[in-house]
Amino acid sequence: YFVNSNQIDENTGTIRIRDTDVHHIKNVLRLSVGDKLVCCDGDGADYRVEITGLEGEEVHCRIVAKTPSTGEPERLRVTVAPSLPKGDKMDWVLQKGTELGAFSFLPFSSIRTVVKLEGKKVSKKRERWQRIVKEAAEQSCRGRIPQVEPLMDWKGLIGRFADFDQVLFAYEKGGAPLARLLTERGPGSILVVVGPEGGFTDEETEEARSAGADIVHLGPRILRAETAPLALLSCISYTFGE
Ligand code: SAM
Repeated sequence: YFVNSNQIDENTGTIRIRDTDVHHIKNVLRLSVGDKLVCCDGDGADYRVEITGLEGEEVHCRIVAKTPSTGEPERLRVTVAPSLPKGDKMDWVLQKGTELGAFSFLPFSSIRTVVKLEGKKVSKKRERWQRIVKEAAEQSCRGRIPQVEPLMDWKGLIGRFADFDQVLFAYEKGGAPLARLLTERGPGSILVVVGPEGGFTDEETEEARSAGADIVHLGPRILRAETAPLALLSCISYTFGE
């Protein structure tokens, strides 16, 4: 379970778990006093704790041991930018991407994006996405919860390219092999940009290239919009062993 600094009391060696995690501990896992679990501060530390009380809206725990988190890549920070896919495919990208070590997510809309999110729907969706990421981070023993950034447009995304050591723009019609692009630069902060169901236009591809992106080809088959980011993440983790 992820806990904030205000839930951890290092002086008394205790942690108070709150909110929806309490329901999970009591009613889903059915844990009780004496049972052990792991809490993570989301900032590099894991706490092995023992439950000392389940009172009302809180679970009280005693810290047994504090150790550095092991679930984070060391030299690698991969941000995944998917052009908003249809239906529940975004949920899949977020859940699996978190398991595969994504640092953060930057959803965007491009010319051929079918899904149009506006007004209240955007913030509702983002809350849901952040919940999916939190649960996946807990399940996969990550040391931090990846951030889902606000939905942005294509120009906004291009403007973010400069924040990264390398931008990999996935393009099924051409580009360099991934292995070559990764070994040329080595690990660091990488932005992975993937198109919607209808792909990117040639103009968008040229704009990305001019803004400094490396155009990457993932082989002679067309991957689904939700498969491509996960294939990229897997290959990047594999290449750098993280
Ligand atoms: N029509 C299918 C769908 O509904 O999911 C395929 C969509 S494919 C055009 C979506 C995105 O995946 C592309 O814009 C590209 O970023 C990435 N992609 C798919 N296959 C690829 C490949 N072989 N090499 C590089 N990128 C690929």
